[in-house]
Amino acid sequence: MPKDSNAPTRRRAKTPKFGDSRHLFARLREALAAGAASLPDIATLVARELPADGSVIYVARAGEILELAATHGLNIAAVGRTRLRVGEGIIGMVAASGDTLNLADAQNHPRYVYRAEIGEDAMASMLAVPVKRAGRILGVIAVMSRQARVFAPVEVESVATVAMLLAEILATAGATNMSEEGFSETLPRRYAGHVLSPGIARGTILAYGMTAPIARLLTDDPAAELKRLDKAIDAANKNLDGLIAASLPGGNAPRDVLEAYRMVAQSAGWLTQVRAGIADGLTAETAVDKVSRNLRDRMRKIADPYLRERLSDIEDMTGRLMVALGGMAPKPERADGYVLLVRRLGPADLLDWHARGIAGVAIEEASPSGHAAILARALGLPALQVDRGAVEAANAGDEALLDAEGATLILRPEPEVIQVYDRALAARSVRAAALAGYRDVPSITRDGTSFNLMLNVGLALELDQLDRTGAAGIGLYRTEIAALAAGGIPDVAGQAAEYGRVMDRAKGRRVQFRTLDLGADKLLPGESNQGEENPAMGWRSLRVGLDRPAILRRQLRALLLGAQGRPLAIMFPMVATVEEFRAARDLLEAEATRIRPAPESLEAGTMIEVPSLLFQLPGLLAEADFVSVGTNDLMQFLFAADRGTPELADRYDTLSAPVLELLERLVAACNEAGVPLSVCGEAAGRPLDALAFAAIGVNTLSMSGNAILPVKSLLVEADLNALRPVLRELRRAGAAGGSIREPLAAWAREHNLPV
Ligand code: PEP
Ligand code: MG
Repeated sequence: MPKDSNAPTRRRAKTPKFGDSRHLFARLREALAAGAASLPDIATLVARELPADGSVIYVARAGEILELAATHGLNIAAVGRTRLRVGEGIIGMVAASGDTLNLADAQNHPRYVYRAEIGEDAMASMLAVPVKRAGRILGVIAVMSRQARVFAPVEVESVATVAMLLAEILATAGATNMSEEGFSETLPRRYAGHVLSPGIARGTILAYGMTAPIARLLTDDPAAELKRLDKAIDAANKNLDGLIAASLPGGNAPRDVLEAYRMVAQSAGWLTQVRAGIADGLTAETAVDKVSRNLRDRMRKIADPYLRERLSDIEDMTGRLMVALGGMAPKPERADGYVLLVRRLGPADLLDWHARGIAGVAIEEASPSGHAAILARALGLPALQVDRGAVEAANAGDEALLDAEGATLILRPEPEVIQVYDRALAARSVRAAALAGYRDVPSITRDGTSFNLMLNVGLALELDQLDRTGAAGIGLYRTEIAALAAGGIPDVAGQAAEYGRVMDRAKGRRVQFRTLDLGADKLLPGESNQGEENPAMGWRSLRVGLDRPAILRRQLRALLLGAQGRPLAIMFPMVATVEEFRAARDLLEAEATRIRPAPESLEAGTMIEVPSLLFQLPGLLAEADFVSVGTNDLMQFLFAADRGTPELADRYDTLSAPVLELLERLVAACNEAGVPLSVCGEAAGRPLDALAFAAIGVNTLSMSGNAILPVKSLLVEADLNALRPVLRELRRAGAAGGSIREPLAAWAREHNLPV
């Protein structure tokens, strides 16, 4: 257990208790039931029960104003008269930031604003807590003491609970006309990160996973609530036990991690706090929510990663409890105009949100070559990996600017910033119009080298991009994407219909279908790779296809049927040996003998994603009809760097001597064997990488639709003959393995190339 005085599991001399709060809660409950709680009553009750020398309640008014609505112990004549702007004084600051302030010497705080009419001269300390509901600030409640002191944690918790209840009272059916709409926290916050899919989105934050407003806050039957809590704990524990049982026996790492998680998550400390809340008259979900808010507030302030991890384990467990208590928000039907902000996101979920109309996505744990990122690019959906902390700082309903060009997420942006972005959006449409002009320009560099730009796609809705971009064909059709979108693999007829439609839309242009590449982070509903320590290197992709040949054979049959006699090119993912390629090709040939009409031509190719293939090139190239380099997986296996880990996203570069060397040798081997080569990993769609690849002899590049015209606009302006000696020199200088990206970009800019 961490020895931290802030840790929620620390032993206290006695269980935290809310003074004689039951009396206060009973009064509040009555007021709620009657639909007319009086603010002066609440101000008085809080001050008396805490006890404190004074209390104030400010409520939000139109125009970002806070108005003094009730007080105990201060000048009652100021009620309705004292008004503060959001951000003004300590109360205004609390409303702007959404953070609690606990000040022993409030009057000497730099933001203190003196208002003679309130009569607070004698008060030394102040505890001010925002009154929030569903991301809106409805007011601020503060208690004061004549004696200079910091309010104790138990007092802070008590006032925070009253603030929660007050929020419900203020929001209840406009019951009392006490509060208007409220307003959001107003202080802007910026988070840096990595671009996953370029674009800019303006919208409202949708922080999925946040809890819905709680329907029932207080109870007069704590015993029943404690039973509900125990049942929920039981359900959440069973769920966790299931996860642990599914991991491999024998002390492997994931199991250890889960066990450690269970120890922290089930530790008595925070559950005691939940139980104490219920005993005080809160419903089980209110008590869990209160502890979880508390944790989030503390996590914001803790820099130590170990402690943050522990707190986040508990926060995760509170989430499980909320689900078990039925208090988790369901996904909204539509998400138009929203920016999704989440910790993690799988490709299937990303598709689901896209279908609901989401404007952009910010993910804390993601990396540019992960599948969620690839899908986002394919869909043209702006997406950003953001630094940790954004999810905690955001409230549902916050305005947000997702700048997946400048790699920034801005929460609650200032109006001037919004104006700047509006101008940038306008400029983007001008650039898009200029790029569209390249669609029909011949794909030939200045030195006369022809090249082919092809599309990476996986969904019918992406096929429009063939005509929009003027692509030469489809260099990578990821067949698993449709299965992920549908939540399962369609039957043979369903698959054949899909493949036939793709070929129809390609209108004779080449299509390279890749067989199912499932596993690792591409999991169908119900599948899990809990048992694998390294799923990316585990039982996935073609390995599953060869071990369970029925699925692969059905897919090959569907491809042959869908082709209806047209030329057909099929490639296999994650091939590690020539034998695997041969086994897959044999299955294809066996199916091909049974299907009529036979395709006009049938090509079997392979992805080059596993480095072992590079050492079997003569054998491989003697058998494969074409090859396509998947730089995403190849990079992760070459550098032993997980493609989904954001911290590694910038660590190794495709534009470095080892990768360029590897590609150059591959080009030479393919040329010698007369086997066509393409590059279809994400690097192929980055203009500078594409330029370097072209210079070393790769003339077919396959990429997301939104990359085609930017890459083409660069290549048609490039003189590869001039670039080659420069590239050689840069590679020599960077031979130790370092990136040549910066100097190459500088060369390109000097030559007026649009990088
Ligand atoms: C790759 O690995 O580079 C590739 C194109 O395949 P995927 O991204 O679908 O794994
Ligand atoms: Mg791959």
